[in-house]
Amino acid sequence: MRGSFKLGRIAGIEIGVHYTWLLAFFLIAWSLAQGFFPQQYPGWTVTTYWITGAISAILLFVSVLLHELAHSMVATARGMRVQGITLFIFGGVSNIETEPEKPGVEFLMSVVGPLTSLVLAGVFWAIQQAVADRSSPPAALLYYLMLINALLAAFNIIPGFPLDGGRVLRSIIWGATGSLTKATNVAATTGRIFGWALIAYGFFTLLSGNFLNGIWIAFIGWFLSSAADSSRQEVTMQQHLSGMRVNEVMNTAPECVNQNATVESLVRESFIQHGLRAAPICVDGQLTGIVTLTDVRKIPQENWSQTSVSAVMTRSPLYTVKQDDDLNTAVKLLAQHGLNQVPVLDDKRLVGLLSRADVIRFLQLSRELGMKPKATPPGKMGA
Ligand SMILES: [Zn+2]
Repeated sequence: MRGSFKLGRIAGIEIGVHYTWLLAFFLIAWSLAQGFFPQQYPGWTVTTYWITGAISAILLFVSVLLHELAHSMVATARGMRVQGITLFIFGGVSNIETEPEKPGVEFLMSVVGPLTSLVLAGVFWAIQQAVADRSSPPAALLYYLMLINALLAAFNIIPGFPLDGGRVLRSIIWGATGSLTKATNVAATTGRIFGWALIAYGFFTLLSGNFLNGIWIAFIGWFLSSAADSSRQEVTMQQHLSGMRVNEVMNTAPECVNQNATVESLVRESFIQHGLRAAPICVDGQLTGIVTLTDVRKIPQENWSQTSVSAVMTRSPLYTVKQDDDLNTAVKLLAQHGLNQVPVLDDKRLVGLLSRADVIRFLQLSRELGMKPKATPPGKMGA
């Protein structure tokens, strides 16, 4: 995920935190210290409320992490490649590179998440029972963790894709009908319906006076319905691209622009005459960088004829793909780094440029021609 930093590895799985999680951490600690704890457990000092709130937020983070680790570890055990886990404002996401090939594997992989949260709720409840003073901060902390893990289990088991419950539902329909497309469509539709229901409930809560909770619920509902939508599109796209190689859709036209060329000639020839939106830059046939419209925009037009492309090009990080790379993997690279295009190499020689526009054009064409996809797709596991 873009905008995230790495924390380390657990069982070989990389753990990252997206910057939005820091906002969530503050919001949770704040709402606990100012709302939940003072209401449920009056009489502590302000410092105690804040410390208990902050520890609760961190342990909530650990709980979410354990939930995601359960998904990722089952995936690894079933031979799937896991890129890592990212924690963000709405929870966690496991980036699993390959999609389960059998409904049974998807069922198992999805169901372990909510099960882990349920077990954690039980463990926190059991420890809380052993604490003598039920109104003490440790007891309050344990009670909150029991509650939040039970909520995590309940929310994730909602049968709407891409939530775990939606994946469980998808695996069942997939197993019964044998059609992954049909199963994804049904599960994504229930995901959208649940999203809308949450938005409506959020507005109802808001109108009844509970402003913050209402906004939060509506926000989660919006997130769920848009995630259902984009997950379905992603699955459809991955299905259409699966089994394909980069060189099947890339633009083979772009020639290397010498890095001594001026920005003026690059704009005139590559951008205007050849209709490109980015040009690979070379020295002696070796790729040294790439210049995009964004790079050119930084230079005032009156300076174009005196500026060489080497002054504006991106040298590093310079992402490239190979011409026989899997197309889905290449599209993921574009998405992960927010790129619009990437140079394609054969050994070290430039053979083309792969852009988002090329992929979209291919998808439109294959839909208009009613072309059938080649094989089964890779994917991502929701919170
Ligand atoms: Zn999950």
